Amino acid sequence: MSDLRSENYIGGAWVPARSGAVDEVVDPATGDVLFQAAASGADDVDAAVQAAATAFTTWGRTTPAERATALLKLADVVEADMDRLVELESRDAGKPVAAVGIEVEAAADCLRFFAGAARTMETQGAGEYLEGYTSMLRREPVGVIGSVSPWNYPLMMAAWKVGPALAAGCTVVLKPSELTPMSTLRLAELTDGVLPAGVLNVVTGDGATAGAALTTHPLVDMVSLTGSVGTGKAIARAASDSLKRVHLELGGKAPVIVLDDADLEQVAESLKVGSFWNAGQDCTAACRVITAPGIHEAAVEAIAEAARSLVVGPTTDEATELGPVISVRQRERVEGFVARAVDGGATAVTGGRSAEGPGNYYEPSVLVGVEQGAEIVQQEVFGPVVTVQRAADLAQAVEWANGVDYGLAASVFTKDVGAAMEASALLRFGTVWVNDHIPLVSEMPHGGFKQSGYGKDLSQYAVEHYTELKHVMVKW
Ligand code: NAD
Repeated sequence: MSDLRSENYIGGAWVPARSGAVDEVVDPATGDVLFQAAASGADDVDAAVQAAATAFTTWGRTTPAERATALLKLADVVEADMDRLVELESRDAGKPVAAVGIEVEAAADCLRFFAGAARTMETQGAGEYLEGYTSMLRREPVGVIGSVSPWNYPLMMAAWKVGPALAAGCTVVLKPSELTPMSTLRLAELTDGVLPAGVLNVVTGDGATAGAALTTHPLVDMVSLTGSVGTGKAIARAASDSLKRVHLELGGKAPVIVLDDADLEQVAESLKVGSFWNAGQDCTAACRVITAPGIHEAAVEAIAEAARSLVVGPTTDEATELGPVISVRQRERVEGFVARAVDGGATAVTGGRSAEGPGNYYEPSVLVGVEQGAEIVQQEVFGPVVTVQRAADLAQAVEWANGVDYGLAASVFTKDVGAAMEASALLRFGTVWVNDHIPLVSEMPHGGFKQSGYGKDLSQYAVEHYTELKHVMVKW
């Protein structure tokens, strides 16, 4: 990993943190130290924001076609760098190698989508809304974006942040999670010769120092965070001082409603991926199954069987389906949630403990006997843990599904089109799947209701968030 640049990428140049301080980056599968990234301070962040502000004066005035061409090139170089990105992301984030390729492809697809979206922005038609005047709308870039990303999908989240911002004509300072900076630094290397200097800057470091400096910087016009609800609230509070725009993609606690007529094979197949992809460290992870009464026992068994069938192993092994969680701290957090649930009366049908051996592995787990008010039902665990509750009917299932602070994603499994449509309308979540759970497409918005945040990622709606509408009114 030593040939990856470890400094900050500012104004098209590699610049060490002024303090010389570094953060150690650890392989979650082995505990080995992989890399040392710059632990940036406020002055490093300031240099990056100044570079982004300078670049905005020209990038903000490029044509949509110029921005689209650059994003298409970026997608091409990302795709061409597949092997390297897979290696970095797999080691850094503890992801099985077989899974990471899909994420790199998704990142490239996202950049390609936003290349197209740059050229298809829409507004209301110009017209004479007052006699003797013509009114028209301009959709203008917001300016400098301070983007902060999480550790669970470092490269994909970088693409989700950079794509719509650059498409709109904004410039970006991106701070990856201190736990997983490597693929974002590689992305910065790949922009060399593709993006003009200063259009994308990458500054590494922790949330309290580098993140806070970025999200409160006076020249940052908008903050875009993907992270936990707590961080979202801290950023929204800090941003209120200067009334910066805020775009928040936060945590989730996705319910899965399984009705009596559901195809259990389909449920098990979907949740094998939907609940356990990325070791359950997914904001849309299917972690709260709520069944109708008649199918409960069979559903529990089918989901437990799917969990038991997962191949747990080294992330470097092509056959591995489930890798470790990100850190020792995260594994202890998962252990704590499960221990408290069991103390409260829950039973682990399968799993319910850490795996033996090195690395931060936790067994894929299915818990029953949990109350709606239990911590494990209400709070995001962010590990390979699924609870299954038995509801009396669809109305109670929807009430329980909606009965949490989060509102990111949900699903319903049934053959009854009417029940599926009713549930889709009643579920207060930004995405509702019917008879599946987890697939995303670049063309459709992803974002939360309630405390899962506001603002959409992906889709044309994301580009809108990085623009301001301006009314120009001309007197004849
Ligand atoms: P986190 O909130 O701990 O950190 C996210 C980022 O914010 C990191 O880069 C961190 O350094 C930074 N940060 C922390 N405190 C900060 C502060 N005070 N000011 C500025 N920046 C700060 O989240 P995480 O643990 O890295 O990621 C997991 C969380 O992200 C989960 O809650 C998950 O659901 C959520 N997530 C949401 C989505 C979505 O699309 N809604 C996608 C992926 C992850």
